[in-house]
Amino acid sequence: MKLTSARELKNLLDQYGFSFSKSLGQNFLIDQNIVDKIVDQGQIQGENILEIGPGIGTLTYSMAQKAKKVLAIEVDESLREILAYTLGEFSNVKVHFADVLKTNIEEVTREYFGDEPFKVVANLPYYITSPILIYLLKSQANISEIIVMMQKEVAQRIVADKTKKEYGSISVFISYFGPAGILMNVPKTVFMPQPKVDSAVVKIKIAREDRPLTIEDLERVLRAAFGQRRKTILNSLSKGLDLEKSFVEGVLKDLDLPTTYRAENLSLDDYLLLGEKLLDHGGKNV
Ligand code: SAM
Repeated sequence: MKLTSARELKNLLDQYGFSFSKSLGQNFLIDQNIVDKIVDQGQIQGENILEIGPGIGTLTYSMAQKAKKVLAIEVDESLREILAYTLGEFSNVKVHFADVLKTNIEEVTREYFGDEPFKVVANLPYYITSPILIYLLKSQANISEIIVMMQKEVAQRIVADKTKKEYGSISVFISYFGPAGILMNVPKTVFMPQPKVDSAVVKIKIAREDRPLTIEDLERVLRAAFGQRRKTILNSLSKGLDLEKSFVEGVLKDLDLPTTYRAENLSLDDYLLLGEKLLDHGGKNV
């Protein structure tokens, strides 16, 4: 079966009366080289894989040959019959039909993988890339690595450090969980239907380091800082966290951080140290 052949894909979709849903971000891969590269760079050799949005099962098919087990979560029920046909030969693949953002990830992955860790490998629906990443990372599921395709601009924001103009709160949020980098750029021509923008594959290695701040507290600090990113951090943090300006000024001084800095001048470590000191003193969101 050659699911990446544009002609075979069209035939299959016609045969099952399937039509693409733009609102579900359905852009299917039609280039086997890209599929192979994702599988290679994902170093899939006997691991458990969680895929979000299998579509007609193109990536799933290639991963199933190398993975221990693949669990694919797909929201579009009209793909049920096609997926039963394309993935029918594999006993190590399970498709779970649900909206990933309404799925208890810990529960469904524990049910299928037991206590074993798993990698997330997917070509994500672009309209909810960040919400899916945030949802997965904040879950307590046993994820070891995330390798996902997304819109290039979003990828650049996710992997940016503070020296880059794309640096923002999502960059800091992601780096809390581990280092992130771009594995490859992918042109828009390898999808059907063709999207308007190019893509990139991002890898996030989950580090599980002990952090002095919970992710929820880091989010509060990031909301305060980046919510008013034109202001100095002295102003945005005191206002956003409802704290005395003189107190915030003292903390910034203690940490050798200029009060004139703006949100994009601070690294993850700066935010962790700042958050620890500021929230200890009862900072609350206003
Ligand atoms: N993996 C396939 C491929 O590479 O050809 C399809 C990728 S396509 C970009 C995104 C897939 O995510 C579609 O199959 C779409 O139906 C599915 N999807 C969209 N929203 C979803 C959601 N909330 N939960 C689960 N799957 C979703």
